[in-house]
Amino acid sequence: MGKENEKLKLTIELVPSTAWTENLRKYLPKKDWDKIRKETYAKAGYRCEICGAEGRMNCHEIWEYDDKNHIQKLLGFIALCTMCHYVKHIGFAGILASEGKLDYEKVVKHFMAVNNCDRRTFEEHRKRAFLMWEERSKYDWQIDLGDFNHIIQQKKG
Ligand SMILES: [Zn+2]
Repeated sequence: MGKENEKLKLTIELVPSTAWTENLRKYLPKKDWDKIRKETYAKAGYRCEICGAEGRMNCHEIWEYDDKNHIQKLLGFIALCTMCHYVKHIGFAGILASEGKLDYEKVVKHFMAVNNCDRRTFEEHRKRAFLMWEERSKYDWQIDLGDFNHIIQQKKG
């Protein structure tokens, strides 16, 4: 994580294209995923854990990337409002915007407001996030579900 990321409250987190199909949701029955979601929202006091907004929540998976061994590890979950969630997955937000389903400028403005930064800071952060995404997408990632590994093993066995 770069120096600038430490200053920014709200950052872009792009999942490598080679790991797109991997997420916990896929392995869990809907009721188990719903339980994780609801626990995450309750723990956060039904507020976005980054900007504090109330309203519709999204359960965001926090991943850590080991760029040496190419292991993607699940650290946990965070409750996010819809706008913060769009920033996290700004590639997806861009696709929605191109389909006329989302105002991309609103997402950019949310980033600038939460981070109290200018447009240039956003553009530079975005550029770096995409460069890292390109680099990470060259590799196949091994998934480590951390504390959730046992759930998966139970399911498989
Ligand atoms: Zn938020």
